[in-house]
Amino acid sequence: MASFTVTKVGREASADGSHKHIASVVTDTNVRYTRQQVVDSINAGNTWKSSGGGLTATIKAKSYCPKVNCYAKPYIETNPDSSKLDNLENLPEG
Ligand SMILES: [Zn+2]
Repeated sequence: MASFTVTKVGREASADGSHKHIASVVTDTNVRYTRQQVVDSINAGNTWKSSGGGLTATIKAKSYCPKVNCYAKPYIETNPDSSKLDNLENLPEG
């Protein structure tokens, strides 16, 4: 099984334009993966982590975007005990 480290995220506007959510991620080896590809990889047993500010957090698959009334799916999030710096939502745009 492989391990991936995400250092940047690509964002897109939600269907109703109320917010931007993660559309893709970029790894430390500079490869971009869509949300779907990350979820498929997690479900296949690979490990995904976010890295920011010298900290890392584990990325989990989630059914939908966490924002109210947004049904973008599947979605990804870091575990709740991640710090602000390594939280997936706070990684730099890439
Ligand atoms: Zn959303």
